Amino acid sequence: MKATGSSTERTIWNFLRCKGLSPAGAAGLMGNLYAESGLNPQNLQNSYEKRLGFTDTAYTAAVDSGAYSNFVHDSAGYGLAQWTYWSRKESLLNFARKIGASIGSLEMQLDFMIRELKGYAAVWEVLRTARTVREASDIVLTRYERPANMSSSVKAKRASFGQAYFDAYANKSTEKEDNIMGNSPLVTYTNITKNRTSPRNHAIDTITIHCIVGQWTAKQGCDYFATTDRECSANYVVGKDGSIGLSVPEADRSWCSSNRDNDNRAITIEVASDTSHPYAVTDAAYAALIELVADICKRNGIKKLLWKADKSLIGQVDKQNMTVHRWFANKACPGDYLYQRHGAIAEAVNAKLGTGTEQIVSSFPAVPFTVRIIINDLNYREGPGMSYAVKGQTGKGIFTITEVQDGWGKLKSGAGWIYLENPAYCTILDDGQTEAQKAAEKLARDIAAQLKSSGCDAAAVLKRVSEILA
Ligand SMILES: [Zn+2]
Repeated sequence: MKATGSSTERTIWNFLRCKGLSPAGAAGLMGNLYAESGLNPQNLQNSYEKRLGFTDTAYTAAVDSGAYSNFVHDSAGYGLAQWTYWSRKESLLNFARKIGASIGSLEMQLDFMIRELKGYAAVWEVLRTARTVREASDIVLTRYERPANMSSSVKAKRASFGQAYFDAYANKSTEKEDNIMGNSPLVTYTNITKNRTSPRNHAIDTITIHCIVGQWTAKQGCDYFATTDRECSANYVVGKDGSIGLSVPEADRSWCSSNRDNDNRAITIEVASDTSHPYAVTDAAYAALIELVADICKRNGIKKLLWKADKSLIGQVDKQNMTVHRWFANKACPGDYLYQRHGAIAEAVNAKLGTGTEQIVSSFPAVPFTVRIIINDLNYREGPGMSYAVKGQTGKGIFTITEVQDGWGKLKSGAGWIYLENPAYCTILDDGQTEAQKAAEKLARDIAAQLKSSGCDAAAVLKRVSEILA
């Protein structure tokens, strides 16, 4: 493909878009290339200019003419992506020689880079389907460029470079964006399977929920579809822990429901389940399923989910736009647990679609307060955020929160932090606590702390206090 454009930036943008990267994918990649080389294909790593005694241009010319023969092994970063490691520099050099191009040729490097990226299947898939610059930028940084420093500030900086390209080039009249569908931003794991037909031949207008017959995580499910010899897959896998995996991009047809027509128009979702009747799913999986389906509907223009439990309505999406595997094959799928909840799922999703606003609890009573956890497997983590390690799961029940940070609550037991903002996980209980109750609680805590540090027998002291008060 001939790269054309009025500037190097525009040339790179057009090239990447032609190669199938989404606007966010192209921008995220470009932000990283900018950080690496300033988008200069002849860029020799600055610290090596002095050491090797070359400018960018002189180095390029010397490699091209053969006057400099240590290109592969000199450990100097070079070119758009600052290729450094010897085997990658060797491939780059061989590729340039093969097509008779200068080592500093922009077009040659772009072609080479695309070949490399296709070898990083997970990275490539994200670049093709990314909806946000940040997701594309992060995966290029951590899985393709892999510089020594991949800290959160580096991530933010590179994504901000990418965002500038996105703002400059995406959504311009020259772009044909209309048919570029993305995947759910709720995805926590991606492993794209070969078991799919690309692209699907019908617009997405149906949801088909399955049970995977195993209490798996999204990763286990996606990894299974990516490696199995059986010809099966699903667009998404919802894990027992509420994780959400992408196995087949929405733009493609999954091999899931024993029915080609259905899978061409449906987003198929496998949900982790028990292995026997009624194939129950965890509360976390159920909650994640609702969120995922609502997101799919929003992005694909499905205004309302319709469920009549009527097989004769297959294909009449204005009357019913949910289908089940058992209608197409002699199977129990999606299992009675989910089948019987299809009406409730539609209702919960429609509630989310109807309001148009995310249900998030963002204000909390003064600590301490109590919460009722309503799912079995809410994680508690080492610190207040998703990036902290999971230490365990609370189980259902009432818990006391003693500190709040960024929507996370510290459990009174000290076991860890739980996420408070999602009302599908927990209910904040004592919003209505009066000032007097708060004051009493605080006094009790102060007394308890004093007792603890005094070394006295607490029970004896409290008994004596009661006597005095009486
Ligand atoms: Zn099924």
